[in-house]
Amino acid sequence: MEKKTNNTAQSEYTNSDMQKYIELTASILSTRYGGEGPRAFLHTYGCQGNVADSERIKGLLREMGYDFCDRPEEADLVLFNTCAVREHAEDRVYGNIGALKPIKALKPDMIIAVCGCMMQQEHVEKRIRESFSFVNLVFGTFAVVKLPELLFRVLSSGKRVFETTQSDSKEIAEGLPIVRDRQFKGWLPIMYGCDNFCSYCVVPYVRGRERSRKPEEVLREARSLIESGAKDITLLGQNVNSYGKNLEESINFSALLREISSIPGDFILRFMTSHPKDCSQELLETMASSEKIAKHLHLPFQSGSNRILSMMNRGYTREKYISLIEYAREIMPDLSVTSDIIVGFPGETYDDFRETLSLVEELKFTSLFTFIFSKRTGTKAAAMDDVIPYSEKSKWFKELTDLQETVASERSKAMNGKVFRVLIEELEQSKGLLSGRTEGNVSILFEGDESLIGTFQKIRVTRPKNWILYGEIE
Ligand code: SAH
Ligand code: SF4
Repeated sequence: MEKKTNNTAQSEYTNSDMQKYIELTASILSTRYGGEGPRAFLHTYGCQGNVADSERIKGLLREMGYDFCDRPEEADLVLFNTCAVREHAEDRVYGNIGALKPIKALKPDMIIAVCGCMMQQEHVEKRIRESFSFVNLVFGTFAVVKLPELLFRVLSSGKRVFETTQSDSKEIAEGLPIVRDRQFKGWLPIMYGCDNFCSYCVVPYVRGRERSRKPEEVLREARSLIESGAKDITLLGQNVNSYGKNLEESINFSALLREISSIPGDFILRFMTSHPKDCSQELLETMASSEKIAKHLHLPFQSGSNRILSMMNRGYTREKYISLIEYAREIMPDLSVTSDIIVGFPGETYDDFRETLSLVEELKFTSLFTFIFSKRTGTKAAAMDDVIPYSEKSKWFKELTDLQETVASERSKAMNGKVFRVLIEELEQSKGLLSGRTEGNVSILFEGDESLIGTFQKIRVTRPKNWILYGEIE
């Protein structure tokens, strides 16, 4: 995949540049909209990394004077933060951009912006340029810090603006304002990009090279989250286990976890995503030794067949994966393990797929994220022969999800009568019950007073139902 690169997208773009454009854009907006203030509608597709980016985008928009609304029809700025991991997600984005055309026809001053991973692909940028002429602004994953400047250019010139240059810099834009979506739970990015080049995956092309945030920045944000009441913090990265590789400081992921968990306060710490090739004994032992680290490991294995794992360029074997999980469960008997699986990788036979089924049966995951292979332009797998028809892959997929349903319901039954520490998250309106999640990230519903939201409570499971548990406060 061809990419334009430069080194200035983040490193030489200072916070005072950002601040200057926040003020310039705010001034145009206040002249245009007066006391009412402009309104923005932001929709995020894809993974938690995108959600975390959107929280920063919202932070910037608020600094420029935007309020937020829930419907594009009410908005002066509509912004989609997009995902490129699978074709289905991309198709939805095109469909949703198309649906904005009649809204914009009624409201010509509305600004339509599209950002995120999809925009880092040349063929996508071209399609938006040519087929969606009503889109005013397109920017990629490296340009979030430049949003105030880009909006300024759109507002002051009335012209379309495209900023999709990729950066090779290891610098990370820090100090962006943040509007968090959730009060008691916080996303905390610790690194960006990925160097693994799994043969099916577009992430390294659209997010660039792996770079870690400095530990002091991560700790500063963790402290600020805890001070503002976060009780459940998830550290984010495409491969958190390799945290620290590019830093001058000698620090690895386990050491970072130890430092964050030593911050005083009543909170639990999660992280995703781990990669089996870099998941060390030290990490598992660090998890086991800290009460603050959730006993939940999301460790995608993708395929149970060594032949397919090698074609995927994953860097581990089925045997290595099993031994990691066995060791983890030996030192953390209550550990909840979740995983990602791809069905129908090019060249995969039914015999290969049966090895995936047998791994699912053997390891008894709490839950699984399962995907049918999606061909991504520019990746190695896109050039591989893929002869199994989609209809056949769908049958395999159904076999896998049926198997996991049985496994999950057995796991749920085994939780009956047990007591779990649960962070109470919200009132589930339709059921009139409070809902929360166990440390293992399993949903649990129970009766209780709304004033308990945001607190940890001990909940006894009284009625397990597939992957949802019903219980009562102890
Ligand atoms: N960095 C993480 C997750 C990346 S994307 C990791 O390495 O595990 C999340 C999941 O999407 C992947 O784990 C994989 O299961 C799935 N995925 C990625 N590319 C895909 C593709 N081309 N087709 C189908 N599923 C894909
Ligand atoms: Fe994609 Fe592999 Fe990187 Fe995960 S580790 S983001 S699957 S290339």
